[in-house]
Amino acid sequence: AQQEARATAHQPAITRDGRQVSVFANIGSINDVQVAVASGAEGVGLLRTEFLYLDRTSAPTEEEQLEVYQAIAQVLDNRPLIIRTLDVGGDKPLPYLRVGLPEANPFLGWRGIRFCLDHLDLFKTQLRAILRASVGHQIKIMLPMIASVTEVRAAKVILGEVQAELNQAGISFDAAMKVGIMVEVPAAVAIADQLAAEVDFFSIGTNDLTQYVMASDRTNPRVANLVDALHPAVLRMVQRTIKAAHAAGISVGLCGELAADTLATPILLGLGLDELSVNPQSIPGVKQAIARFSIVESEAIVASALQQDSAEHVRQLISTSVIPPA
Ligand code: PEP
Ligand code: MG
Repeated sequence: AQQEARATAHQPAITRDGRQVSVFANIGSINDVQVAVASGAEGVGLLRTEFLYLDRTSAPTEEEQLEVYQAIAQVLDNRPLIIRTLDVGGDKPLPYLRVGLPEANPFLGWRGIRFCLDHLDLFKTQLRAILRASVGHQIKIMLPMIASVTEVRAAKVILGEVQAELNQAGISFDAAMKVGIMVEVPAAVAIADQLAAEVDFFSIGTNDLTQYVMASDRTNPRVANLVDALHPAVLRMVQRTIKAAHAAGISVGLCGELAADTLATPILLGLGLDELSVNPQSIPGVKQAIARFSIVESEAIVASALQQDSAEHVRQLISTSVIPPA
């Protein structure tokens, strides 16, 4: 089976009834991108840029970042590259910026876009580097931890300022660069229709969405049993997000760990995701799993999954509805 997975890893993933679903990679270094392409990634659905900022005593310069983004884009050739802006805070401290200092509720605190909108120099430096790297590549930008339309608009105003500065300096960039958001806060699900009107794409972050929906810290082993993305409460939020995106005509991917769980593949197909982004090692298996299902049968599994009363029952339902591969 593993040999078969490797053989089909560089083909597109198509369901039995002919729907193609993009399989992208989550990466957090230059090394990862090489593994991703070798594993059959059709793009990068999530570049976690935190690695550029961690384990040092000051923020990376524009030139340093530019070099890394360009190197990654080069390896990807013409494949899309979604660069997520800095998502520190929560469980990711940054001592030189005094983020990650004790907060009563770090995951409900100063992290992601909230932190960046309070550090405009830092944010603008990253946006400049991303914009400069976009020339000749398919780079998109993604904002983490969005909870309100106001944050998206504020970030877009900053992006516009940076673009104007680059124009003035005669520095080129992709003026049509797409802007998307992570949907990983319950508020974003509730206002997904409003957010969809502001951006070009969504990517659902089930790691954070699950902890916030279930009110269960993703790093606390005592509540680990509640942090299950297959809980119907989470699946209903995912469904709502996808419906809002598609009603607005924008695409929606999923980049949480759930995307790599092949037990969940029929659920993700049935919910209508356009793209799954997973760790590079999981790409061949996920592509193979997609090819085993039809959208029609997956939609039937989803309809029943959303009516279950626990994540455990959702898992049971999937294993009994699905014929195991030979
Ligand atoms: C997520 O929250 O699902 C996600 C992909 O982002 P991270 O794990 O980096 O918070
Ligand atoms: Mg997240």
